[in-house]
Amino acid sequence: MLYILGAGSLGLLWAARLQQADIACRVIVRNAEQLQAWQQRSNRLRFNDDTGNHTLTLNFETPDTARMIRHLIVATKAHSALEAVRQLRHRLRPAGDILMLQNGLGSQQAVAQACRAQQVFAASVTDGAWQPAPGELTWAGRGSSVVGPLDTGTPCPEWLNRLSTALFDWRWQTPIMPTLWRKLAINCAINPFTLIYDCHNGEVPAQAGAWLDSCLAELQELLNLKGVTEDLAPLVHDVIRSTAANSSSMRQDLHAGRRTEIDYILGYACRQASQHGLQVPALERLLDAAKDCLRQHQLPTD
Ligand code: NAD
Repeated sequence: MLYILGAGSLGLLWAARLQQADIACRVIVRNAEQLQAWQQRSNRLRFNDDTGNHTLTLNFETPDTARMIRHLIVATKAHSALEAVRQLRHRLRPAGDILMLQNGLGSQQAVAQACRAQQVFAASVTDGAWQPAPGELTWAGRGSSVVGPLDTGTPCPEWLNRLSTALFDWRWQTPIMPTLWRKLAINCAINPFTLIYDCHNGEVPAQAGAWLDSCLAELQELLNLKGVTEDLAPLVHDVIRSTAANSSSMRQDLHAGRRTEIDYILGYACRQASQHGLQVPALERLLDAAKDCLRQHQLPTD
């Protein structure tokens, strides 16, 4: 049995696809109130994908259920992950595994530190899913997942190998950290600018001008320190072109009045640079501007 922690967009997407692949899973919601809301909908999820609309019946439970957990997939936002996993500590089997789906970095390491008896894996996910209404999920963009262990050398868990690649476009990658760092750097170069200029991804180069180039140069230095030697600028400009009409997740969060993951993306990059003694004035200025923007919208800056 797989357990998914968090019944948000990505958690429900994984639950829906696991169910379609006939892999048993249970979704852990935040509290009794959320459980009741699902029960009132007969635990049914309306799942819209590019093949049509499907009605799926999922299994939900609260964190205080007694069952022990061997395989946990954490699908909360980065800032909720540690607290959410801590709530389940007494249910986690020693030598079990935890797969973290969060964007950015920091939450995976925090959970690995708190759960030393379990193996922690991290995924870089490019799917796009959102909830148009309670009990409804739209899989707007089919993406792929790259999964690997935080500790190199840990083998792929057998349940992951059972996932049909028809439903899950995923691949195993060890070490995973370079993949996570690459994605973090791309997010650092695009998302905060979309926040401060309130623009689509495609407008970032024109709005940010030379500031973007300075950020790219600093991010490249940081990536090199992390062992990623690929050229970042062409990667970022490719993403900007291919997602030109998209609103970044950070900008969507701002518009919806939700806490962003800035601290696990640009905040993490700036802290890591400082730990390495690397000067990143353009990134620091971007972080300050993004935080100002969040404050103006009365949103948390961490
Ligand atoms: P979301 O806000 O839709 O879902 C998070 C869910 O976690 C919420 O339902 C919340 O109630 C739940 N939660 C928080 N604390 C909890 C707790 N203690 N116990 C149980 N549930 C708890 O967010 P999302 O869009 O699903 O994103 C989750 C993560 O996946 C983020 O890091 C995001 O960046 C990443 N991601 C999302 C997508 C996507 O398409 N939505 C794609 C790639 C990566």
